[in-house]
Amino acid sequence: MDVSEEKKLEKLGAFEISRKMLALAQKNEKSNIFLNAGRGNPNWIQTRARLAFCRLVEFGVKESQQTINNGIMAGYIQKDGIRERLFAFLDPDNREEDKFLIDAVNYCKEELGLNEDDVVAEWTNGVVANDYPVPDRCLVNTEKIINHYLQELSYEGAQLADQTQLFPTEGATAAIVYAFHSLAENHLLKKGDKIAINEPIFTPYLRIPELRDYQLVEVDLHSYEKNNWEIEPKEIEKLNDPSIKALIVVDPTNPTSKEFDKNALDAISQVVKKNPNLMIISDEVYGAFVPNFKSIYSVVPYNTMLVYSYSKLYGCTGWRLGVIGLNKDNVFDHNIANLPEDELKQLHKRYSSVVLDPDKMKFIDRLCADSRSIGLYHTAGLSTPQQIMETLFSLCHMLTSTNGGSDDPYIDIARKLVSERYNQLHEAMNAPEDETDTNTHYYSLIDIYRLAEKKYGKKFRDYLADDFQQVDFLLELAKKNGVVLVDGVGFGAKPGELRVSQANLPTDDYALIGKQVMELLKEYHEEYEKKQNK
Ligand SMILES: *Cc1c(COP(=O)(O)O)cnc(C)c1O
Repeated sequence: MDVSEEKKLEKLGAFEISRKMLALAQKNEKSNIFLNAGRGNPNWIQTRARLAFCRLVEFGVKESQQTINNGIMAGYIQKDGIRERLFAFLDPDNREEDKFLIDAVNYCKEELGLNEDDVVAEWTNGVVANDYPVPDRCLVNTEKIINHYLQELSYEGAQLADQTQLFPTEGATAAIVYAFHSLAENHLLKKGDKIAINEPIFTPYLRIPELRDYQLVEVDLHSYEKNNWEIEPKEIEKLNDPSIKALIVVDPTNPTSKEFDKNALDAISQVVKKNPNLMIISDEVYGAFVPNFKSIYSVVPYNTMLVYSYSKLYGCTGWRLGVIGLNKDNVFDHNIANLPEDELKQLHKRYSSVVLDPDKMKFIDRLCADSRSIGLYHTAGLSTPQQIMETLFSLCHMLTSTNGGSDDPYIDIARKLVSERYNQLHEAMNAPEDETDTNTHYYSLIDIYRLAEKKYGKKFRDYLADDFQQVDFLLELAKKNGVVLVDGVGFGAKPGELRVSQANLPTDDYALIGKQVMELLKEYHEEYEKKQNK
């Protein structure tokens, strides 16, 4: 590949570059095994909730046959006495998932004060799924259960479960798409408005067309490797400027894998005093990978839309399980109420076909209506099986934990797994390790230039940085060694920074990846020496 081709390639998004490299890596010159550490998709799954889901389907079918039983056709489910029939159906002595379901129903009754027949009927109808989601935004018991789950994993230290309204969505992906769409439709973000983003950040967020269509001005809140990727308060203080309308934040971050620490959270709570109408959208998909995660929502609930996803922790990206949370009292509703008269009139008209009092329609319900272009609001909402799956994952955690996730053995295993891979990678490269509690260890950003300097000196570093396109190393790594990593520049990182995902490969492969990186550096160095001696 020549330099002009490399330049063209650099203009693509990081994931598109990565696609190109996969082809090169599969037939790599050294015939090494092909190692794709570009993917953030976990290579593990949580089994219990999945098995419990199957048992509920079996039970649901049996229940349905009570009302119509005509070959492979059955009828509706009756609620009266359904808890008792479920317990009679289950076999807790021989099946762990059955024991889990019984414990879960009891927990809902005793700890959450829910009606057990209502709960079992919601789950059974939900998995059989012969009705539209009602209420459309979120099933009633599901909303309470997910709220208590988030209370432990996200709102810890603040009692927010009773004040938070939820809208389950098709993953965090849909949550973000819906959020930007509704912010724009409701005049909360307008052409030329300033929006801040913490960088480096998950690339697709830098490429959302809405951000471009509305010509939003990005303000970059940057973090640096020299600070261990910790974001400094002075970056956050940029938000004091009231012309900045919104902040999109991934916390803990991807690709730098750091949680906002206490200083950063303190700075955020100061900022909203100076810029009280600031709307924060916080993506917390990696929250469970740090102990005692404290979310931005828990610190400034009035200003924050929480976006949670089950995808990574439970290895369920194909299920599409996410949720939006908004406090009952929130800045989004406040900002709508303070729009100019003509815009309010237009919004009144916009929502008047679906609710009687459109002026009072809350932003979270507008999100739900907008997600189906308003006209199809009556069939809005996440599919009921997906909602029940979220409930089951949540309860698996709630039954084993009392303390911010740290007692949940499943979460413990997930954290140890990515940490072990992180250690193997860094040891193989002899690279400094960050073992602080604010590091999720889900991804690493490795700075090739820094590794080059450490091993071969400053002159070699300059040669590598000045004489090559920054994707050159990445391409060579794929082509020669069969290792695929992701370019950090597309994430807003510095040239020479490569992202390694610790999620997707068997643990032993991480030492190999580290070794291949060092081997390739050595080859560049040999070439450099040859040129010096000419
Ligand atoms: C993987 C990832 C998600 C997950 O998105 P889903 O649509 O829920 O699968 C969300 N945000 C970030 C930053 C991610 O890296």
